Amino acid sequence: MVIHIKDLNKTYQGAQPLHVLKGINLDIERGEFVSIMGASGSGKSTLLNILGILDNYDTGEYRLGGELIWNLSERRAAEYRNRMIGFVFQSFNLISFKTAVENVELPLYYQGVGRRERRRRAMDYLDRLGLAAWATHYPGEMSGGQRQRVAIARALITRPELILADEPTGALDSKTSVEVMQLLKELNEQQGMTIVVVTHESGVANETNRIVHIRDGVIGLIEDNHDHHASPFGAGGLMK
Ligand code: ADP
Ligand code: MG
Repeated sequence: MVIHIKDLNKTYQGAQPLHVLKGINLDIERGEFVSIMGASGSGKSTLLNILGILDNYDTGEYRLGGELIWNLSERRAAEYRNRMIGFVFQSFNLISFKTAVENVELPLYYQGVGRRERRRRAMDYLDRLGLAAWATHYPGEMSGGQRQRVAIARALITRPELILADEPTGALDSKTSVEVMQLLKELNEQQGMTIVVVTHESGVANETNRIVHIRDGVIGLIEDNHDHHASPFGAGGLMK
């Protein structure tokens, strides 16, 4: 089991404390492709940030790869993230003075991968995301959708064990969204990568194997999605 969450609670402190996650229980097996679906404000991003060790929780238990994630130093947390997790967020800051391909290959630079191999892999991911022709362009020269795809390629480039994606298609047009979900599906099916996608769109959720519904900080229905091989984004999905 890659993710084990038991009776997890999270309250944002402030003038008016907000109890956002109210006793979450969730197990995710290695190699699963899961979506967490719910309306805006239901606590999806809060949960994903805790899964990604970007935020703390108050009570309960979170185990990642069997290890209890609790009170980690920022250094330990960063170690876990760099080793295990690829993040795909709706708005991912690209480095503005680096080209698309330089942005994508940056994580490989930190892993010590050689220049030619870095460039080859970065170009492969840009190509899969339909951005080969944009490799030497700067983020400022690209559309929002193109920037988003560069950020996704950068998150995928290290082939992390776990991908956490928060509304990964939220800023993309429907055709590009389908391509991105197909890429995630391919990574899941062909490389056994564990992927958790947060979304409020049923068309995106329907591309995954299991749909976990969250509502007001509580997990409701968990659906095994046997239709995920059907053609993506059927009526009423991403098409608005
Ligand atoms: P979702 O991703 O499902 O839209 P979030 O997890 O982002 O929901 O937010 C859940 C609730 O927590 C919302 O009411 C939001 O306004 C609030 N919230 C999110 N982040 C913070 C924060 N850092 N401080 C205080 N409240 C927050
Ligand atoms: Mg959110």
